[in-house]
Amino acid sequence: MPKHTRQSKLGACTECQKRKSKCSGSAPCSYCARSSKPCTFSGPPQRTPLTRQAPMSWFKEAARKAESQLGL
Ligand SMILES: [Zn+2]
Ligand SMILES: [Zn+2]
Repeated sequence: MPKHTRQSKLGACTECQKRKSKCSGSAPCSYCARSSKPCTFSGPPQRTPLTRQAPMSWFKEAARKAESQLGL
């Protein structure tokens, strides 16, 4: 397993995202290192709507109820 920085999967850093330039993915990335910018990664792209968490919560609640009914 190659040892990459875990940020390499996050895509571009905020500066590269703003400039829409190719990000090297390292910390700091080559662009930020060259231009002395603070290289920050805002985390994985948040395209998942928050509503997607709702079914999970009711599922958990249902599972909890089922567990209590089964006496687990
Ligand atoms: Zn970058
Ligand atoms: Zn950067």
